[in-house]
Amino acid sequence: MRKIFVAIIFAVMLCATCHATEDRAYFPPVLMYHELKPIPLNEFDTTPEAFASQLDWLKDNGYTTLSLEEFISYTQKGEAFPEKSVLITFDDGYNGIYDYAFPELKKRGMKATLFIVASTVGGVKGTKYPHITYAQLAEMAADGGMSIGSHTVSHFRMTDLTNDALKIESAKSKQILENFTGIKIRAIAYPEGYYNGEVIDAVKEAGYEIAFAVQDKGLCGHEARYSIPRIYTGLELAENDNALFKEFVKNYRDMPAEAFKERWKPIEK
Ligand SMILES: [Zn+2]
Repeated sequence: MRKIFVAIIFAVMLCATCHATEDRAYFPPVLMYHELKPIPLNEFDTTPEAFASQLDWLKDNGYTTLSLEEFISYTQKGEAFPEKSVLITFDDGYNGIYDYAFPELKKRGMKATLFIVASTVGGVKGTKYPHITYAQLAEMAADGGMSIGSHTVSHFRMTDLTNDALKIESAKSKQILENFTGIKIRAIAYPEGYYNGEVIDAVKEAGYEIAFAVQDKGLCGHEARYSIPRIYTGLELAENDNALFKEFVKNYRDMPAEAFKERWKPIEK
């Protein structure tokens, strides 16, 4: 009985020591955008005006943007990130990134990272969310300010997949994007932020050095750099002169875990 009691206490302590809040305290704010649209259709859209005002606020308040390569380098060396640095990311690869975000970033000399769904580049024409083309992706990758990561092959929730499918989604997307861009794909963002121990094992096995989530949960026994929570940036964060956006960026390390959540939904009309 005593042994069981000690084992339970030890397990509780172990979990407490790798709680995600402590892990998050190491990283600088990581922003997750999706699409930029002048007339938003869903909560995950950001208007070009709001995006520009958020970049201006970051700049005016002394923030610098990191490239993905810089972010990985600090993490691997265990070095402290520069004070007031931020990582800007875009998921899915919609064409508003090229049309609106890329010029605004370039104008300000700011960097960002694109997480691309390997099977959808140049595709999904005729929908309200067309994707960037290979030519646009190549232009942004060659520019130097935009880093590229994987967002799997098909955007399935990775926690729903068999081990074989997990392998394909992790390794094949890396290979497709590397073949196309000629650069090493070092990071992955989990579709909708879903991950578990098997997912982390699969992306490590595929050679990813870092992985991004949405929710702030973390997993005991797994490095924090394989489940980095991101600020879900969309319409809600831009309301009231970017009130939530500013709060999140200033307090990323101290925000309650509940604040990190999916904010996707169609706009109610
Ligand atoms: Zn996605």
